Amino acid sequence: MEAPKTQQPIALDPPREYLNYINGKWKPSRSGQWFENRNPADQDDLIGLFPLSTEEDVQEAVEAAREAFARWRRVPAPQRGAIVQRAGDILRARKEEIAREMTREMGKILLETRGDVQEGIDTAYYAASEGRRLFGHTVPSELPDKFNMTIRMPVGVAGVITPWNFPLAIPTWKIFPALVCGNTVVFKPAQLTPKTATTLVEILEEAGLPPGVLNLVHGSGSGVGAAIVRHPGVALVSFTGSTEVGIQISRMAADSLKRVSLELGGKNAVIIMPDADLELALEGVIWGAFGTTGQRCTATSRLILHESIHDLFLERLLERTLRLRLGNGLDPETEVGPLVSEAQRQTVDRYVRIGLEEGARLLCGGAPATEGALSKGWFYQPTIFTEVQPHMRIAQEEIFGPVLSVIRVRSLEEAIEVLNGTRYGLSSSIYTRNLQDAFYAIREIEAGITYVNAPTIGAEAHMPFGGVKQTGNGHREGGWEVFDFYTETKTVYIDYSGRLQRAQIDTERLSGEA
Ligand code: NAD
Repeated sequence: MEAPKTQQPIALDPPREYLNYINGKWKPSRSGQWFENRNPADQDDLIGLFPLSTEEDVQEAVEAAREAFARWRRVPAPQRGAIVQRAGDILRARKEEIAREMTREMGKILLETRGDVQEGIDTAYYAASEGRRLFGHTVPSELPDKFNMTIRMPVGVAGVITPWNFPLAIPTWKIFPALVCGNTVVFKPAQLTPKTATTLVEILEEAGLPPGVLNLVHGSGSGVGAAIVRHPGVALVSFTGSTEVGIQISRMAADSLKRVSLELGGKNAVIIMPDADLELALEGVIWGAFGTTGQRCTATSRLILHESIHDLFLERLLERTLRLRLGNGLDPETEVGPLVSEAQRQTVDRYVRIGLEEGARLLCGGAPATEGALSKGWFYQPTIFTEVQPHMRIAQEEIFGPVLSVIRVRSLEEAIEVLNGTRYGLSSSIYTRNLQDAFYAIREIEAGITYVNAPTIGAEAHMPFGGVKQTGNGHREGGWEVFDFYTETKTVYIDYSGRLQRAQIDTERLSGEA
């Protein structure tokens, strides 16, 4: 790791009090309590105070959303889409400013926060255009003079609960399609990224969203999040976060049979075969493992190396990893920002101790990075473990930090067995020039996403996103599939025969008459 440069002073907004947004009004929590939001690269930098809301605030937000639903569901879908389109335009105009604010709030480097905003823009335009589709089916009837079709209906109030690692993109994945489909929303963002969430809501307000259609309630998961999930007035819940909380949400929602979409953890792996372009693979592994400081649900946390290139690849990987520049993500030279919080850094450090106890070999890193200006933030040295066995906890559990576990294998079959051997199944990747091996891997890998000759990260907004096994519960975000989650299918039969026609019973007789 290179020594950090002296940082240039960066002009920042002064701290202020931010508010909830309920029924078109910005207001504090009824609790009168607040929580702090600080820059993870510099703990002296207080970004603002946010309302620590309660169940009462959730109650008010759900009531507003329910009332607004009665009107919003009747607004033609292309018009709902037009508002989302305007939100996309505003995001585009403010991209740089929002990216900077996001880096300050959660630490990832500007290059990546720009990408986060771009994903929101892409999602806005894709969702807006869906307002002019939202296709149903027309299907022939088995009876004469009868017309069959399906139409999409909005579901009701959507509870949206999001994590901090994609503070803008993930909320837009949920909120934009929910709105275009005619649902209203109660949104609870992560407590570590309330500022970016507030900006998104301000933008939708400016874009012309009527009061009550989108409500923002800041606060804790166990307070506000759980109150949203349990509320009988909430029809569906879209959650992205850890598998543990996802399971709790599933249980809580079961009492009222809510529809729930869960996007949860991952333990994503890259396989590198002997015939791979090793330079290309190296860049992919560095980006996948240490981009966003390893805090992506799709981050590369396991590297599965074929024995014939194992030592050579590790040598190059180590050399490149040691050159990574850590620092404040607002500095354009920085390649790896801080972890999001002290707790996250403690978790990463705990896993490093576990790896050592399990007998893995520490190739580099393995400690907080504290030289110079880094001492003010939650930095951690990019860490690589070798000689990792597939059953070890560092190869099984999501660490969510810059820690890469390297596993040596003898064949593609073994590589895939290792890759599939965790409870998760989000993203995966194989580097090979062999077409047969690539297609074999695509078929055999248990994951929602498989990349060939690309890292485990890099989802595009118009493609379905999600995982198998304990990464989720079968739904997908992004692309066309998310619109299934936010709509109910209504099946419509129009009988214009003017007589009673009984399906199954009169079918043969009446068809003969036609
Ligand atoms: P988290 O599960 O701790 O929190 C996520 C959200 O849930 C936050 O808003 C939190 O306040 C809320 N929450 C916490 N407890 C709750 C409860 N009992 N009831 C309702 N809401 C509750 O996750 P995090 O630390 O914010 O994010 C990191 C996790 O998110 C990682 O596990 C990561 O893999 C996962 N993630 C998954 C995806 C994906 O698409 N699969 C994307 C990004 C992050």
